[in-house]
Amino acid sequence: MVLSYTREVNQSFKERMAWWYFKLKNIKQKIWEDPWIDFMLCWMIFDAYLTEISQCDRDCDKLNYFYKNNCDFKNLILKKWSTLSGHVIELKKLSPIQDMRPRSNEMVYLNNENDLEQIFKFIYQIRCNLFHGSKDIKNLNDNKLVRYAANFLRGSIDNWMNGEQNSKILIHTCCAVCGAYLTEVLKADYEPVIFFYNPNIHPREEYEKRKESAVKLAEIYKAEFVEGDYDDKNWTDKIKGLEGEKEGGKRCTVCFEMRLQKTAEEAKRRGIKYFATTLAVSPYKNEKLINEIGQRIAKENGLEFITINSADKKDIWDKSRKLAKDFNFYHQNYCGCTYSIWKK
Ligand code: SF4
Repeated sequence: MVLSYTREVNQSFKERMAWWYFKLKNIKQKIWEDPWIDFMLCWMIFDAYLTEISQCDRDCDKLNYFYKNNCDFKNLILKKWSTLSGHVIELKKLSPIQDMRPRSNEMVYLNNENDLEQIFKFIYQIRCNLFHGSKDIKNLNDNKLVRYAANFLRGSIDNWMNGEQNSKILIHTCCAVCGAYLTEVLKADYEPVIFFYNPNIHPREEYEKRKESAVKLAEIYKAEFVEGDYDDKNWTDKIKGLEGEKEGGKRCTVCFEMRLQKTAEEAKRRGIKYFATTLAVSPYKNEKLINEIGQRIAKENGLEFITINSADKKDIWDKSRKLAKDFNFYHQNYCGCTYSIWKK
């Protein structure tokens, strides 16, 4: 791809788009829960952006301009790629899609998740099929295509709206071993704040050991360290009746929910839009469940839950353990609660 020069839109245009974006984001119907409307709104904003930078009227000319020229929108996508690549990987799994116009049987492929031109051609085809009435709301595949494309577009628009500044992210940290690599990755795009909220950890001496390493982690990455309450009584009340569950069962779901809920509340209190958790880093944890809980809580609180691409979870875990070893972090040998000690 040849980058000829940087093109940025003027501030008043950006403010008009921000008005659309943030006004609609706050309307009662929670527009973001409906991927179809979400997609259409995001495409509308993206299309307005393309028109503004290219000064063209035909879609193909606008997109060609976008592919061939440098622009702030594209630069910010590349800069914050780790927050967007997960959606593209999901879209790639749904490739190819057919151009549904009456006289075209063309198949559109997404084979390379790092090729921006391919990604936008693929999303543009979703847009065409949707706008020409060929996407079916009851079709599971169509639903997924629209949802992941909307997530990608919204994330890209978010980056563009927020500009170059690094945004803060509150990283719920269960321990420094799981936190090391995640903090390393996220610090490329965000300003990390380490949030240690783990009232599940028993006994208190164990809690203090893990906390000490989390403080060290914050110091290494020059991040702020925030400690949540050690409200173990509250935790015990919450898991009442689930004491005998095996590790990974219902007790853990409640434990994840409690810690992520508190993280979202703390993020809101501090005016931080993004949060993440180290909980899903360990191969012993149910990543899908944790991400679903995080995303649900984020939606309920008007925040963004950030996950990293876990295509190679073993690699992530190995890197995290290596960093933890290099930094000499305390490495526990059980999950945290008293019941996980029994199950050892
Ligand atoms: S096993 Fe771990 S995740 Fe499950 S309830 Fe105990 S501390 Fe929480």
